[in-house]
Amino acid sequence: MQTVDIIVPCYNEAEVLPTFLSETEKIVRGIQDFSFSYIFVNDGSRDDSAALLRRMSREHDHVHYLSFSRNFGKEAAMYAGLRNSTADYCIIMDADLQHPPALIPKMVEQILAGHDCAAACRATREGEKGIRSWFSRLFYKFSNSISDVKMVQNAVDFRMMSRQMVDAILELSEVERFSKGIFMWVGFDTVWIPYENVERTIGTSKWSFKGLAKYALDGITSFTIKPLKLVRNVGLILFIVSLIYIAATLIKTLIMGIDVPGYASLLCVVLFLGGVIELSLGIVGEYISHIYLEAKDRPVYILQESDRDAVITAKGETIRLKGDAK
Ligand code: UDP
Ligand code: MG
Repeated sequence: MQTVDIIVPCYNEAEVLPTFLSETEKIVRGIQDFSFSYIFVNDGSRDDSAALLRRMSREHDHVHYLSFSRNFGKEAAMYAGLRNSTADYCIIMDADLQHPPALIPKMVEQILAGHDCAAACRATREGEKGIRSWFSRLFYKFSNSISDVKMVQNAVDFRMMSRQMVDAILELSEVERFSKGIFMWVGFDTVWIPYENVERTIGTSKWSFKGLAKYALDGITSFTIKPLKLVRNVGLILFIVSLIYIAATLIKTLIMGIDVPGYASLLCVVLFLGGVIELSLGIVGEYISHIYLEAKDRPVYILQESDRDAVITAKGETIRLKGDAK
């Protein structure tokens, strides 16, 4: 019997968790030769998720949970789940049933066919606000054109992976994690399974537009240093152009004498250069902020509670937590 851990990041999902479990159970019970367990990662929820998970894990032997000490974000929750899994395969899926459990048998089928990873992607982006979908397209186009790690547009964080691939992902111990890029970066053979987008019926999306914009920026700066090279190239071009302009002005002044008017052109040059310098500083600053956060090397998550008597921290150490271990 091969084992599979279903890792579910949860942030304020108490409303949907019981339905999630019953719907997913209906599907996975029908899959032969695989034994499924759940690792719910409670990402500092402020609703009843913690109490609910405690109860669910007491009622079912194959339901486990990890609770963070505060909200660390979905990336941290996925990492914690993967770190604490010992199964032959891991499935990552959202709690809100936007990732249809009915895809799991198809994923298992692809894994049995010999692939390392079976990942879901949306067939359409229907049901999503126009502007958000437009920005998303723009992000993937831009990011893929400048980065060596090509990301698949419409890919979602719903995938089944082999132990080997999970171990490879865990070797990337960066603090600021961008899983969509990490999944591609580690390589392995991935098949894509398209599915129709499902709207969230219970609860609300935890993403704000600002959050998504930051995510997109992190996605680009985590996987390519091309923007830094762009800054250098723009600087070089401006330097050469300014040398030519200085030479031309000098010669003109020597031949024709001092020419006082020029307020407009002077202002344009000063403003333009000021803008370019600020923008370049901003881009460099973005990378420095990454170095700063990585250099501090803080743990990606802090665990507070679990049904397991021993858990694995973000740094890979095994620790014991208080709580009612099974
Ligand atoms: N989530 C999380 N921590 C967060 C935000 C979200 O663990 O800080 C979980 C959330 O509970 C859900 C999944 O990540 O299971 C996807 O979140 P959401 O549905 O809000 O995102 P969307 O589907 O809109 O991309
Ligand atoms: Mg969702």
